[in-house]
Amino acid sequence: MTETLDIKISRTTASRLEQTDFDNLPFGKTFSDHMFVADYANGEWTNLSVIPYGEIGLSPAISALHYGQAFFEGLKAYKHADGKITVFRPDKNAIRFNKSAERLCMPTLPEEIFLQSIATLVDIDRNWVPSQPNHALYIRPFMFATDPYLGVTPSATYKYMVLVGPVGPYFSKPLRVKIETHYTRAAEGGMGYAKAAGNYGSSMLPARKATQEGFDQLIWTDAKEHKFIEEMGAANAMFLLDGKLITAEAKDTILDGVTRDTVIALAKEWGIPVEERKVAVAEIIEGAKNGKLTDAFGAGTAATIAPVASISFEGEEYFLSDPKTREFSNKVFDTLDAIKYGLAPDTHGWNYLV
Ligand code: PMP
Repeated sequence: MTETLDIKISRTTASRLEQTDFDNLPFGKTFSDHMFVADYANGEWTNLSVIPYGEIGLSPAISALHYGQAFFEGLKAYKHADGKITVFRPDKNAIRFNKSAERLCMPTLPEEIFLQSIATLVDIDRNWVPSQPNHALYIRPFMFATDPYLGVTPSATYKYMVLVGPVGPYFSKPLRVKIETHYTRAAEGGMGYAKAAGNYGSSMLPARKATQEGFDQLIWTDAKEHKFIEEMGAANAMFLLDGKLITAEAKDTILDGVTRDTVIALAKEWGIPVEERKVAVAEIIEGAKNGKLTDAFGAGTAATIAPVASISFEGEEYFLSDPKTREFSNKVFDTLDAIKYGLAPDTHGWNYLV
């Protein structure tokens, strides 16, 4: 942080903290007492403020609603045993936030506004950061177009906001996943690398169909041939095949995950060969058959390290080894947890103190 920004703070007079059941926290349903808001107009960000969490008035003609000029980020704050609160790698999310903004013809946000909006809000609502194991304060920064104008052109005005809320684990058990060979999440030249709201809207029908078929998640494949693995639901797909960590390379169609980057960094430190490249469905299925696929998981902020129990492809279900016995993903999970909750030294400088 280079300068302290002028952020107006208006506190709630009616905290909901006491009424909140911290033992029952379905993802994304509980919000803290406050939220951050800023407006973009005439080429600059103004009215930086923290206000009580609540509804906001908007024109029904805003182009975010009609043309999807909207995107978001997702990151988490963790409480350490000594009460310290840290946010995990927010500088990476700040960079990705602006990549999304540029792709959607929206204004970028100075990194110090991104970081200080989060730090200020999390500090004000620090009692909302849960202390149970595997719990965290989920942080949702987002931006959307606010011009009340139905022309299909970029809006001239925008809102940047941040919501926060306590969350527990996203997945409660290892996942049965299906390799999707019809629907597409992202195509070359599209916006898969951005956290555009529309990417998530378009994923809901295929995800619902997979759930109706009994699966927990789907694995997205390339738009052209459906022969290469791209991502797993809203997480990056990572595999340990023949002793190597393999995952799709970060490109147009891939969301360059912070967790993915972190797992790769740890694997390299542990001397495990890492390959960021095209991952063929055929080699993963072959590995599942001959036992060379020793680990498979989704990596993401909400998902954390989500082990895959089985992979289904063309009507066949291939079961992998018992997730509890998997060396790599368990080591990654434990190491990451220890760093995030301050139980191990943060030698990489990944924790941002609030
Ligand atoms: N892929 C997609 C499509 C996602 O929505 C997410 C969640 N942000 C990820 C991967 C994982 O990214 P991260 O580790 O930064 O949360």
